[in-house]
Amino acid sequence: MFHELKQSKDFLAFTLAHPQHLPESFQFTLDNQVNVQVWDTGVIVFEPLDLQHTKDIVLSCAVHGNETAPIELCNDLMHKLLSQETALTERVMFLIGNPAAIHNGTRFIDENLNRLFNGEHSRGPGLNNPERVRAQKLELYVDKFFGSQEGERQRIHYDLHTAIRGSKHEKFAIYPYRGQRKYSREQIMFLEACGINTILFHHEPTTTFSYFSSENYHADAFTIELGKVFPMGQNDMTRFIAMKDMLTLLMTGKDLQLADFDLKRVNLYQVCRSVNKHFDDFEFTFANDVENFTAFPRGYTLAKEGGHEIKIEHEFESIVFPNAKVPVGQRTVLMLKTADDSNID
Ligand code: ZN
Repeated sequence: MFHELKQSKDFLAFTLAHPQHLPESFQFTLDNQVNVQVWDTGVIVFEPLDLQHTKDIVLSCAVHGNETAPIELCNDLMHKLLSQETALTERVMFLIGNPAAIHNGTRFIDENLNRLFNGEHSRGPGLNNPERVRAQKLELYVDKFFGSQEGERQRIHYDLHTAIRGSKHEKFAIYPYRGQRKYSREQIMFLEACGINTILFHHEPTTTFSYFSSENYHADAFTIELGKVFPMGQNDMTRFIAMKDMLTLLMTGKDLQLADFDLKRVNLYQVCRSVNKHFDDFEFTFANDVENFTAFPRGYTLAKEGGHEIKIEHEFESIVFPNAKVPVGQRTVLMLKTADDSNID
């Protein structure tokens, strides 16, 4: 089986040829002394054998199956590793989150995978749908990857997505809730160097993949939105050059040459609340094509449901990820206000 991958050097094609599962895991070592382990469909680990590495880096894509740009970006990085163009010095795991949904060309098969982490896959009604099974496995792989290393290490997890709608800030990252831990100025400036100059600080624990890694492994973990959804092959990959270059520097132990933290170079937002759906007739008052980060003034009626109006509470609040079509009980939109740098270290 590994001959197939060694020849093609195309882990995406390999994954899509075996979207449900692999008959067996396998490994091989490249001539440049990088060990390659394939643990499952869409799960591959690269580990330099001879070198002292200090970073464990997880790059995940296709947690939503139709978000193609991150898949193409990761496949390109993996191709360069498999063809030994990239001289890897750190441990890296790539996860192609939901191969069956990529096949389908849909966000998911039965359920939004990025609401099922941190144990949520096993809570609630005893469903055993494809996303719940996959979420549980992905957690185990992250645990095995981070947990197998001893000593002082930096753990990183960038979970790469694209958004459904247009955005006033094309690329942005969600910083999961960290409790008492401060936000990292170095990480914020790394993202800025990747072309991601807008950061959202989340206000509460969630069931996303990045929160799982942040909370359980103290990883520098982010959900990263890289622009709007396009079909596979129709992404303008020139828009991701900075990101690809920075990830390559990170994986190869090079000096990242990050700029000093500068508030003028980044847009910081604090999530102030999440508006959940309580009634089937939930509807927003704004048009379908309103962009992410559009701001509304205090008193403005944002949405209606069950005979109630949901109004803006702060002087201004901006919206992100509005989606009225979620099941009752789930989030319809995150509301943001601008943030300062008081919690950044
Ligand atoms: Zn997504």
